Amino acid sequence: MAADGEDVTEEPEATGQRAELRTLVAQLRTNIAARGRSGLLGVSMTTGAPKKAVAVVPAAPVPPPPPPPSPPREAVTMKPSDPQDEDRDLGAPRGAAGLQLVREELGDCKRCKLCTTRTNIVFGVGNPDAHLVFVGEAPGADEDAQGEPFVGKAGQLLTKMIEAMGYARGDVYICNVLKCRPPGNRNPEPDEVASCEPFLKKQLGAIRPRIIVALGKFAVQCLLRDDSPISRLRGNLRTYEGIPLMPTFHPAYLLRDPSKKKLAWDDLKAVNAALASVGISPPRPPAA
Ligand code: URA
Repeated sequence: MAADGEDVTEEPEATGQRAELRTLVAQLRTNIAARGRSGLLGVSMTTGAPKKAVAVVPAAPVPPPPPPPSPPREAVTMKPSDPQDEDRDLGAPRGAAGLQLVREELGDCKRCKLCTTRTNIVFGVGNPDAHLVFVGEAPGADEDAQGEPFVGKAGQLLTKMIEAMGYARGDVYICNVLKCRPPGNRNPEPDEVASCEPFLKKQLGAIRPRIIVALGKFAVQCLLRDDSPISRLRGNLRTYEGIPLMPTFHPAYLLRDPSKKKLAWDDLKAVNAALASVGISPPRPPAA
């Protein structure tokens, strides 16, 4: 008699069913234990013993997701000049007159903190109708003192590069993203670029060159809004404000690592080839 008074004495038939059930349970345990040993289950089930992990199935390595595809780059092609182009934008003077207006608008600029440390505004120099414009980063000490871009050691190398292409300094236009020297030649800061870049855009709008050569990591990354390494960007034609732009190394970097001069020369030869594709050749034969 159970404690609660229910009669639990088993009938013979019930006893037989229990025995059958026990046999089935025993077979099931044996089966599960065998699977555990063969590694098909994470645990081995053994009668009475505490469950313990004996064979952890190693997780199948999950391959890393493929990198997101880089955004497709525009295929930059040189467009032949449109004879009616000269008549468009009647309100925006071009060439020397256009540049003069930009210079007047810049005035004695106090739009950013660099005005407090500069000696001269370094606006730009060269042919206001140039097909080819070189854009550097910012004036250094020599440029700040003289008010002209690229006149120091790096500038002398740039002049040689321009001459090797078959041009003289006066055939092309040379300017910088910033018009004032950052103290100690530190990197330009975002607020300085934000104040100054509109003037670069207006200069380029007045000159309308057929191609821009951007010199060095800072100018290239800033104009292209692309922080890829210069070693990856250089040599690949892109556009700035609709104008084809060739990124290449800065001459100051080439002075520090002359082994990169060959790559820079390849980029400049590609610029000459792009100009040749629209019928523009340098006044003198380029170096081989
Ligand atoms: N480096 C530049 O980027 N620009 C200059 O004018 C001189 C040196």
